[in-house]
Amino acid sequence: MRLAGAVLLATLAGSSAFADDALLQRPDVVQALRWLEKAHEKTVAAQIVISEIPSPTFHEGEKAKYLAEEFRRLGLTDISIDKPGNVLGWRKGALDDTFVMAAHTDISFAVGVDTRVRKEGIRLLGPGIGDDSRGLAALLAIVESLKEAKIATRHSLLFVANVGEEGLGDLNGVRYLFKESAFRDRLKAFISIDGADPGRIVTGGTGVKRYRVTLKGPGGHSYGNFGRPSPIHAAARAIDRIADMEAPLRPKTTFNVGRIEGGTAVNAIAEECAFEVDLRSVDPGNLDRIEAKLFEAVRLGVEAENQARAASKTSLTLDMKLVSNRPAGETSHSSPIVQAAMWAAGATGFKPELDFSSTDSNIPISMGVPAVTMGGGGVSGNAHSLAEWYEPTRAWLGPQTVLLTFLEFDSRR
Ligand SMILES: [Zn+2]
Repeated sequence: MRLAGAVLLATLAGSSAFADDALLQRPDVVQALRWLEKAHEKTVAAQIVISEIPSPTFHEGEKAKYLAEEFRRLGLTDISIDKPGNVLGWRKGALDDTFVMAAHTDISFAVGVDTRVRKEGIRLLGPGIGDDSRGLAALLAIVESLKEAKIATRHSLLFVANVGEEGLGDLNGVRYLFKESAFRDRLKAFISIDGADPGRIVTGGTGVKRYRVTLKGPGGHSYGNFGRPSPIHAAARAIDRIADMEAPLRPKTTFNVGRIEGGTAVNAIAEECAFEVDLRSVDPGNLDRIEAKLFEAVRLGVEAENQARAASKTSLTLDMKLVSNRPAGETSHSSPIVQAAMWAAGATGFKPELDFSSTDSNIPISMGVPAVTMGGGGVSGNAHSLAEWYEPTRAWLGPQTVLLTFLEFDSRR
């Protein structure tokens, strides 16, 4: 592996725009980076094992147990699983000030999903294989590289395999960590390893609000009780109005009715219909405005159905429940963690791109704690679908970039 090591160093020294040569030439850092490259296949194997343990949001327990064992094996201390189910492991530094490195255990699939991983050439297929099994495997590799190279750090490191990133999990794992954990005041910076591309640095959290809209009525026979209001028809009237809502392209603001359910038989007027709406914007004001439009669309849709069926002397009830609320915000591009991430991505040969997305970083960012989300390496696609795939092409560059980001941040005085 001498050649690989030499090539790596050439890449690291040659391509960096802000070359912090002192850091890249530290023998312990070089050793950790080499170790990550050498451990590539082992890291991919761990990714497959992690991916095959089912862990839909709110059902992360089995995967959490596995990761707690791995944290223990790799020598982290004070390992625990907290109230919401986050797995925590510590690596003490000179300071109590703590840098958090996290990846999420939950997957965006229903209970019962088949999580077996298939191989097609170099491609791995399986729900959650990239999102976020890659992040978890990269996290474990980083822990081990620090241990192998005996790197001493100023900041204490808290490694977290957190629950509740996807869907209705609503970032509850990371929210608990920053808002309720006993050591929340010591958490000074945060990286979430999520996605694949190590050059993509998410510095901003898109704001998200999600509603579950439930309509209820008397129901009845489709023929015998014709004339009564139908929750399904009302939902259709509301969704028709939602589909016509205007959303600004910039700052990007979006809406989507992503799920709908209701009714029991083709010859019955439904007693209930429910649908779920996802609203997003980079800008908190725009999020509020599209939310107001949603309320109006739903109100008018239900009103239209009730009016059309007024002769039946029955009407529908409406319940709108906010099921998810992720705050918008952004880590300043001049903050040390963003600068460190950009430097690290350059050092590993990427052209860093700053991006916006809704990730676990939303929570620390909204509280003023500097945070970024970075990829775990390789290439992935079709996340959140059963056709999700991952290709481990030069994937060690992921954990290398994240590790260098932390070390660069940690070495600043
Ligand atoms: Zn994810």
